[in-house]
Amino acid sequence: MESQTIKQEYRQRIVDAGNTMMALHLTVGTWGNISIRDVETGLIYIKPSGIPYEEIREQDIVVMNEHLEVVWGHRKPSIEHHFHIAILNARKDVNAVIHTHPIFSSAFGVTGVDIPGISEDFVQIVGDKVISCTYALPGTPELAKHVVEGLGDRNAVLVPNHGTICVGADIPAALKVCHVVEKSAQVYIYAKMLGTPNIISEDDMRAMQLFARDHYGQGK
Ligand code: 13P
Ligand code: ZN
Repeated sequence: MESQTIKQEYRQRIVDAGNTMMALHLTVGTWGNISIRDVETGLIYIKPSGIPYEEIREQDIVVMNEHLEVVWGHRKPSIEHHFHIAILNARKDVNAVIHTHPIFSSAFGVTGVDIPGISEDFVQIVGDKVISCTYALPGTPELAKHVVEGLGDRNAVLVPNHGTICVGADIPAALKVCHVVEKSAQVYIYAKMLGTPNIISEDDMRAMQLFARDHYGQGK
């Protein structure tokens, strides 16, 4: 592999995203993982396995291809490279995958309760709801299959008794999904304590999704 096809800038993006994930309290310890696809080369940059985020340097990032082969790096890749690459292979609109071990959305994965569409930000960038995929052990090809099925065309899925997976066109988009999913999970739990949460209607969800896609933000 020509060294110029392996981009230092992409490796640094994984390091930075890991630190952001920790700062946002979206994971604990060495758990969770991040990958990005370079659309120019098709190569996938992924976090090394089991190293504390504050110790990970860009030289520790592993580069893989769509066939799950390591093409660059001296570290073992994240044990979850199976589901990262399976998602990237299945979803051409996705170039970043972030797996977290957060508190509030994990409560949904533990009980098998869906996170419903209760807020504008959630329905615009995540989907109508977030569901749990079928259970399988961490790091297995079987889990990768279940994750791709559970994700479908939404931007997040819960892994039962484990954590959350969020996706986006790039790292900032995927991080935003992680943040919004966790916020919605927390709001829903609090709302249930106060009363009966209202779920946004399908028509209004669709209207907000189209608005976000076509009009929300500068220059649209
Ligand atoms: P890695 O440290 O191998 O990325 O594994 C962490 C994890 O969250 C497994 O599901
Ligand atoms: Zn995990």
